[in-house]
Amino acid sequence: MRTAVLAFAAGAIVVGAHNPLQARQGASTQTSFAFSLATTDSTAIPLASIVSNAPSQATQTLRTTFAPGTIPTGVSGAPPLPNAALLVPSNYPALDVVVPTDSPEVQQWIKDVATSGFAIPNITQTVAGGCPANLQAAADTTRCWWTCGGCVNSTDIVSCPDPLTWGSTFDDGPAPYTPNLLQFLEENNLRTTFFEVGSRVISRPLITQYQYMTNHQIAVHTWSHPSLTTLTNEQIIGELGWSKKIIKDVIGVTPTHFRPPFGVDRVRAIAAAMNLKTVIWTRISPEATFDTDDFDLASGVSTPSEVLQNWDHIKDNATVLKTGFILLEHDLFQQSVDIATGYIYPDALAHQPPFKIQTVIECMHKPLNDAYIETNDNSTNPVASGGAPALSPGASGSAQATGGGSGNSSSSNGKSAATCVAPPLALVFTFVLTMAFF
Ligand SMILES: [Zn+2]
Repeated sequence: MRTAVLAFAAGAIVVGAHNPLQARQGASTQTSFAFSLATTDSTAIPLASIVSNAPSQATQTLRTTFAPGTIPTGVSGAPPLPNAALLVPSNYPALDVVVPTDSPEVQQWIKDVATSGFAIPNITQTVAGGCPANLQAAADTTRCWWTCGGCVNSTDIVSCPDPLTWGSTFDDGPAPYTPNLLQFLEENNLRTTFFEVGSRVISRPLITQYQYMTNHQIAVHTWSHPSLTTLTNEQIIGELGWSKKIIKDVIGVTPTHFRPPFGVDRVRAIAAAMNLKTVIWTRISPEATFDTDDFDLASGVSTPSEVLQNWDHIKDNATVLKTGFILLEHDLFQQSVDIATGYIYPDALAHQPPFKIQTVIECMHKPLNDAYIETNDNSTNPVASGGAPALSPGASGSAQATGGGSGNSSSSNGKSAATCVAPPLALVFTFVLTMAFF
């Protein structure tokens, strides 16, 4: 790692900050956030500058681009790298809107799901507005709705098996500051799992190629980042299908793993029918979800101190867990990249006992080959046969264990936390699209 300074070594740093969530709930109050970091990066952006109205920082260029036809060295048996310059955007759906279902591609994927042997549960769509707007659905444990109650299914990946092992994940890219994150990860010999939005991949295919060729794991995070449980089965199939297709067209192979925006219920069965394993993140109680809330830094809904307090609690919980863990982070904004590279990861790398930081596929004891359909040999990562994935009643994090929920998922400081939620994604993508393209 880069030379680090012991900036916050002696005890907790207490920072006063206004809690925006409490303000939203009408409980106006002044809240202090306390956190203790073993170290930070000496070149870290000051916390006071990681704010919503921060001026745009310099973006890093990719260290290299890989020529079309290059054979990946980290994924044995993979085909040559496609030529991203040959992508024709008009052959794909419009950016950042739910894909239409009447295209020949989606119609074929719908038929494929129907003949997959997987039974898709007959669960009604939820409505916009999250758990408070869907109280009946949230109370219905047969839905196994992770967002509202934390229900997990036996096939969901929510943690890594080995204690102190961290399945690192970044969602919603590739984005303008993703190369900054990649540079940091490379300098520290770290690999992560990127859950990518198809609309971002087609906008910045060279970043996705770089991530893939440098042995990060590429996984699916839909085409337009809709609230999946509000969509029809056919729309969900289209969102997953187009996201799989653009990634295949850009890197030559198709991901086997998927993270659902805004939660999962019947979605996981559709994903399984499309050869996608559902990955969420660790949740050990309604108050302790392994989400730093870094997503909300860019909008100002969260403060850096609040995010670092969340991280501090996650770190403490992770240290005593009987399993490893999966943490949700985002590479969509400069603020979320700044907090990860300047604070969270330097602190994590100095943590004792040490964390083992890996991609999700590798923390699950599987080779990187198994992250892609074309190179998965099925011996260590068999594709499930048909049939709806089974709910694990009473499992840690299941609705039964957590008593269901009427609020949104929560982060480790006890406050309700956005996962991949607010601000409205339309605003997010407006922001992204106004940034310089790579
Ligand atoms: Zn997301």
